[in-house]
Amino acid sequence: MNLKNQSLLCSKSYIAGQWVAGDSGATFPVLNPATGETIIHVADCGAAETERAVSAADEAFGAWKTLSCKVRADILRSWYNLIMANQEDLAQIMTAEQGKVLFESRGEIAYAASFIEWFAEEAKRTYGDVIPEAINNRRQIAIKQPVGVVGAVTPWNFPSAMITRKAGPALAAGCSFVCKPASETPLSALALCVLAEEAGVPKGVLSVVTGKSSRAIGAVLTESPLIKKFTFTGSTPVGKQLIKQCASTVKKVSMELGGNAPVLVFDDADLEAAVAGAIASKYRNAGQTCICANRILVQAGIYDAFVEKFVTEVKAFKLGDGANETVTMGPVITPKAVSDIHNLVEDAVERGANLVVGGQVSDLGEYFYEPAVLTNVDTNMRFFKEEIFGPVAPIFRFDSEAEGVAMANDTEFGLAAYFYTQDMGRIWRVGEALEYGMVGANEVGITNEMIPFGGIKESGLGREGSKYGMDDYLEIKYLCLGGI
Ligand code: NAP
Repeated sequence: MNLKNQSLLCSKSYIAGQWVAGDSGATFPVLNPATGETIIHVADCGAAETERAVSAADEAFGAWKTLSCKVRADILRSWYNLIMANQEDLAQIMTAEQGKVLFESRGEIAYAASFIEWFAEEAKRTYGDVIPEAINNRRQIAIKQPVGVVGAVTPWNFPSAMITRKAGPALAAGCSFVCKPASETPLSALALCVLAEEAGVPKGVLSVVTGKSSRAIGAVLTESPLIKKFTFTGSTPVGKQLIKQCASTVKKVSMELGGNAPVLVFDDADLEAAVAGAIASKYRNAGQTCICANRILVQAGIYDAFVEKFVTEVKAFKLGDGANETVTMGPVITPKAVSDIHNLVEDAVERGANLVVGGQVSDLGEYFYEPAVLTNVDTNMRFFKEEIFGPVAPIFRFDSEAEGVAMANDTEFGLAAYFYTQDMGRIWRVGEALEYGMVGANEVGITNEMIPFGGIKESGLGREGSKYGMDDYLEIKYLCLGGI
């Protein structure tokens, strides 16, 4: 790979401030999903290496938490500056291992960096409270302190941002941090470590353990008594299992899990804006984001016009290697994911759906799926309940506002929802009625570092980003001063 800063392409884990091979010497290949070729082989670490990372994090925690918040903020600010200075190389690495088009990778690097910048600023604002005295000769204070060593497990679809959204607040709060990135995308995580080291993050404060044995590594991160908080982004079934594992030591837990986002389009919507929004939300990262539109719900009066415009847009996508600047949609992460997506399409077609466009493995190869649109779909089809995680858009029809909202809420997930209408009363009614952690009215580009990102129901626990994002990494201590 041709990078300006070749040191960003790493093959070893970063543990306790050292670049290390796995104890067994084993490695695993990181593949480019656009070409199927191996980019590099990376250290295959397991439980023993993870335990060493956790011990080092525990040792480093003592000194890191006692640095002034301003010193920690300065180090984080340097890390932010270095990430932005290396944005292009980091984007190239991301596109190579994850497949998203370069334009989106550049965007993710800026998004990832923004969490480091934001939490560098928030480090100086972890205010406590002075509580009015209940008894005259006492004073009552609440202070906030770092929770301790943090364990993290992150997914492949946002290889950088899902790490910085956790590491930013953890380090800002004074915690140390051990992360296992997804085995499809360890390179972005390791490149962040190179820059963290250069920024002055002390040894042991940040470790990234790469490995294929996710169960063994995950067991250490969820069960070690040295770890006081565990944070996970990934699928709901794995998240549920990891919550159970964390129960053994009663860790503080945050979870960013799966979604099943509806996009509701009402008869009174601005059609152009609604189509543009639904396309952007559905097909970003080839449909592989937790807040991607999973179900497009369109009111009967505007349905045909919406489908016509939507299909025209879908036909304009150019599928290919995301490193090619003219490509607008990259590959799907694995051939297995392509086959899972295709099974959902086949299930719908067998039950009577009309496949209007796409919906097959592309001639480009087993990693590529032709973006699909399905009509004549109903709530018995699997993709009404299941996360598609691919470039497939089922367009459902509803009649009344109440019916549309009921369909939107008919899921155990509750991460993000969107709707389009020009009626101010409806904006309030529907905005309040949707059972989701995040709702966009006439907007799908809803995320940035300043907002509380997170889900309700089985989509998760806790919030990332925003002024609330520090809370998960802090404990509140009550201090009572007597004899005043
Ligand atoms: P996944 O299969 O749950 O994997 C996520 C991470 O968990 C990977 O690092 C994986 O490691 C690890 N893992 C898997 N099984 C494990 C186990 N038994 N113990 C410990 N770690 C384990 O999810 P994914 O397919 O990578 O990611 C897609 C999912 O993430 C979707 O459901 C999406 O909605 C969700 N997501 C949610 C958010 C959010 O903010 N709510 C954001 C992005 C993605 P290996 O790679 O080594 O298997």
